[in-house]
Amino acid sequence: MKKTIGVLALQGAVSEHLAAIQKTGAEAIPVKHSDQLGALDGLILPGGESTTMLRFINHYDFAEPLRSFHQAGKGIFGTCAGMVLAARETDSGEKSLGLIDAKVVRNGFGRQKESFEASLTIQGISGGPFQAVFIRAPYLEQLGSNIEVLAKVEEKVVAARQEKVLVTAFHPELTDDLRLLEYFIHECV
Ligand code: GLN
Repeated sequence: MKKTIGVLALQGAVSEHLAAIQKTGAEAIPVKHSDQLGALDGLILPGGESTTMLRFINHYDFAEPLRSFHQAGKGIFGTCAGMVLAARETDSGEKSLGLIDAKVVRNGFGRQKESFEASLTIQGISGGPFQAVFIRAPYLEQLGSNIEVLAKVEEKVVAARQEKVLVTAFHPELTDDLRLLEYFIHECV
């Protein structure tokens, strides 16, 4: 059956994700209201500005519906700012949604490296390295024991999975490589 994947569409890189989802053959839905979550098999939390997104999430009463969606065992894929949202807390002590047991360091690669590309070997992704685009990217630290590290850059965790939640510090939707999205749809959704 065709799977339906939503993209949280409050702010950020929404249209690129919608186009990539369609390329995999799944149905893509921009999600602006929490009552749309019920129709989804999986949800992408896109890149953008996590502080703004978190503000909208609270303003539109999305936090509890997102946690319920997660608790119902539905898959969630957080990319860049979406990874910040999925974490337990940020390096400056702000609470995030707590979908994975890790702390997130925002803008963790510093000023010199506001944006860069890296060729990554990612656990679970076959067929050679993945060209990853990083834009003011975060990384994860203080990981709980049930979170699996999938990729690192300079010893910093930039891709990880905890059960049905997948997170990447980079933007897979900005390349034509659909392998990570397909991994999410097959393994987490
Ligand atoms: N640095 C941004 C944040 O923490 C994330 C940037 C991005 O999503 N490209 O919100």
